[in-house]
Amino acid sequence: MARARTVLGDIAPTAMGITLPHEHLLLAWGAAERDLGKRYDREKYADIICKDLGPAVTDFGVKTVVDVTPSEMGRDVVLIRDVARKLNINVICATGFYRQWAGFPYVWSVHTRDMLEEHMEQEIREGVGDTGIKCGVIKLAMSDAVLQPAEAHAFRAAATVQKKTGVAIVIHSAGWEVPEATAGPRAAVQLLVSEGADPSRIQVSHCDRAARNMGAMFELAKIGCYLAFDNVGSAGLGSNTDETRIGLISALIAGGYARQVHLSMDHSGWWLPYKPPSVVGRNKYFAQLHKEFLPKLRKAGISEEVVRNITIDNPKTLFPF
Ligand SMILES: [Zn+2]
Repeated sequence: MARARTVLGDIAPTAMGITLPHEHLLLAWGAAERDLGKRYDREKYADIICKDLGPAVTDFGVKTVVDVTPSEMGRDVVLIRDVARKLNINVICATGFYRQWAGFPYVWSVHTRDMLEEHMEQEIREGVGDTGIKCGVIKLAMSDAVLQPAEAHAFRAAATVQKKTGVAIVIHSAGWEVPEATAGPRAAVQLLVSEGADPSRIQVSHCDRAARNMGAMFELAKIGCYLAFDNVGSAGLGSNTDETRIGLISALIAGGYARQVHLSMDHSGWWLPYKPPSVVGRNKYFAQLHKEFLPKLRKAGISEEVVRNITIDNPKTLFPF
């Protein structure tokens, strides 16, 4: 039977419960957490994150968080494990690679595809470094509408790892404004599929921007991808408002794709060394989705059954492998 791979071990899908399928406990650009040296205070940061995440757990019953932070964004699996223990929740952590222009490590861009595959597979099967903490999802990202060379390299390797292990892939999407299918999220998914990945094991993140190209969104739904509206609580990124999000989600539900919708906030519990200007002012907190957004969704006429599908059932069908 498929199991969800969490930082505290493998669990039955039914144990996942209410899930946030695209979040970050701690984010750091590049190797900021190492540059900070002695000032990196894991215990202090874990406490800050627990204070933020705690109310989502105690007040709204969140039981699982999918932390899609790859290593070059300051992933600290020990901190993630400590938070999971303190709050008694499941956290799935990620292997994989982020955007080329946001710090894709040069060394990985010149390593062979085999080495990338071996690295990701090892983090999934054996764990990160010598921690024994295993990853349960692959994170990939696009800088822009067209995949950068290092990104395409990582996508190809990830497709093979997915084929071998069955693990889910989460893609940070970009390029929704491009009308042609040869660029943007469709092209990124197509590359994975052409290398053997299963589209129904892929979550396309940041579909909040799909108002610019609803045709592309429906094409991705049609081939089985999960579509994540994970910028809940953010505004100011073009079409990226709660009202737009609700419109897109409603359209997908009307089209028969309720079982492929994911909802999350892309929130970061703590930043190192500080919050970059692009996210200052978003004012997110981990309980925001349940406290502010779900009431809006219900008010828009989305049934309790579909809310349950989105918050519990849909993550449960993607992440276990
Ligand atoms: Zn994210």
